[in-house]
Amino acid sequence: MAWDYIIVGAGSAGCVLAHRLSAKPGNRVLVLEGGGNDTSPLVRIPAGEIKAILNPRFNWMYMSEADPSLNGRDAMWPGGKVLGGSSSINGMIYLRGQHEDYDDWARTIGNTGAWSYRDVLPYFKRMETNPLGPSEYHGDSGPLVVSDVPTPHPLARVFYEGAKEIGIPFNPDVNGERQEGVGPNQGTIRFGRRNSAARAFLRPVMDRPNLSVETEAKVDKVVFEEGRARTVVYSRGGERREATADGEIILSAGAIASPTILLRSGIGPGADLSQFGIPVVAESPGVGNNLQEHPAAWVAGYVDVSTYNTEVTPSGWVRHGLNWLLRGKGPAASPIAQAVAFVRTRPEEEERPDIQIHFIPTGYDFGPNGIKLLDRPAITLPVNVCRPKSRSRLTLRSADPNDAPRIFSNLLGDEDDVRRMVDGCKISRAIFESNAFKPHYQGLFMPAPDKRSDADLEAYVRAYTLPAYHPVGTCKMGIDDMAVVDPELRVRGVQGLRVIDASIMPIVPSSNTNAPSIMVGEKGSDLVLGR
Ligand SMILES: Cc1cc2nc3c(=O)[nH]c(=O)nc-3n(C[C@H](O)[C@H](O)[C@H](O)COP(=O)(O)OP(=O)(O)OC[C@H]3O[C@@H](n4cnc5c(N)ncnc54)[C@H](O)[C@@H]3O)c2cc1C
Repeated sequence: MAWDYIIVGAGSAGCVLAHRLSAKPGNRVLVLEGGGNDTSPLVRIPAGEIKAILNPRFNWMYMSEADPSLNGRDAMWPGGKVLGGSSSINGMIYLRGQHEDYDDWARTIGNTGAWSYRDVLPYFKRMETNPLGPSEYHGDSGPLVVSDVPTPHPLARVFYEGAKEIGIPFNPDVNGERQEGVGPNQGTIRFGRRNSAARAFLRPVMDRPNLSVETEAKVDKVVFEEGRARTVVYSRGGERREATADGEIILSAGAIASPTILLRSGIGPGADLSQFGIPVVAESPGVGNNLQEHPAAWVAGYVDVSTYNTEVTPSGWVRHGLNWLLRGKGPAASPIAQAVAFVRTRPEEEERPDIQIHFIPTGYDFGPNGIKLLDRPAITLPVNVCRPKSRSRLTLRSADPNDAPRIFSNLLGDEDDVRRMVDGCKISRAIFESNAFKPHYQGLFMPAPDKRSDADLEAYVRAYTLPAYHPVGTCKMGIDDMAVVDPELRVRGVQGLRVIDASIMPIVPSSNTNAPSIMVGEKGSDLVLGR
């Protein structure tokens, strides 16, 4: 049987596509997801993230090559491998980015594709049910339920006061009229349970007779007939399988996997393909390039009140577990970061916030054996650059679909990003050293308290910066030679194939990327349906 639509990957964007495309009973829709189902408590309970992210059952665990801009360190670039994709293992922080991010996208595509903020706002509203209620900026009847942090840590309020003291204004809704300022985060959480894209968009419609979802179905490539995408080749349970589409094949495998599927299918830089004996179907030099990621470094200090890292004890498990189970509240029901600040490092030069600082009421120990919870109360105010100038890239390791791609990470390759990280560390430190924090703050431990000069801080960020887990841009949309998809997300050079996920973003949004990826799924579904 031939399907009307085959969607590869049931992640943030793929689940939206499955929901919207199968809403028309005449459309026969097949979803092929490489991971398994999402019923594990590690996925369902928000606090389970800390374990899920280290579990290869739920995470593809891609590894970068040694990054010369990070003193030759490699790093894990996680990606959700489960229904819901990365939205099933992410930190549940719900942020859209800045209005100008989307106006910049529109500019890069010659204002042809209707991707400006004004154009994408209706999709951000359509997708959500927000406790803020319906307004110019929010929706109250979308499938994705988001919520306020149910039980903010007492130091969240101190974070607001400390930030205000150094000139960062309070902003009660950083997803609203403007992003700048300090305010509360919302989470993709419903009644204390993670509200992944699978829970919000896919599971409620899984019984539609025209929708079929295969899990543990790992896609190798797309095969073409006379230039038209026709067949998806995948493996399931050790068997090679094929599925055929009369309509369209849509890659929604995320910013690491979608370009690798294109490459194995013969779409990419010709030289790379011939190296692995892959026949060129369409020369497309941009595939795997333009890889953008937020560089993130921790700034962490000891405090005198209990923080979540010290509550992971047998009695803490019982207390917080019961609070979660019976009331859907407490730390187990919270996104990883409870508050956020968007700041201009040099207000006289910058028109828009250029760094993001989260408030995480948990202390981590970066020892030689990896990241562990600290045994003393501490909070973390990590810094990341909103719109990094550094560019990374990825390519195949071999033509074998079981081989993970090579990620040439270059997180701090551009000096401008280093400067913003250094300034950002100083701003986080200034919040710790504010009068508001004075009664609670007991000294910095990351970076070390005596590391205060620019040179010290640059050495620190190069030694400790990690990816923020927001890769985008490897199949960017556009109209220039490096664009992989056109503004309607159709793969250039072939027929019947689109990419609809984080990889099409030409520029990384100025904050976390789950809500923007879901928005891409929403808008992409209208493009497919010709709306
Ligand atoms: C650990 C982590 C924490 C994060 N925290 C946050 C956060 O708090 N807030 C936020 O806004 N963003 C966060 N992000 C980023 C955000 O979740 C992603 O940007 C977003 O989910 C990307 O959506 P996507 O649809 O592009 O890809 P994904 O959601 O990753 O979906 C891709 C899907 O394709 C499947 N797939 C991959 N390869 C194949 C294959 N060969 N065959 C079949 N299926 C395949 C995957 O299993 C997955 O289900 C985080 C990401 C991670 C990994």
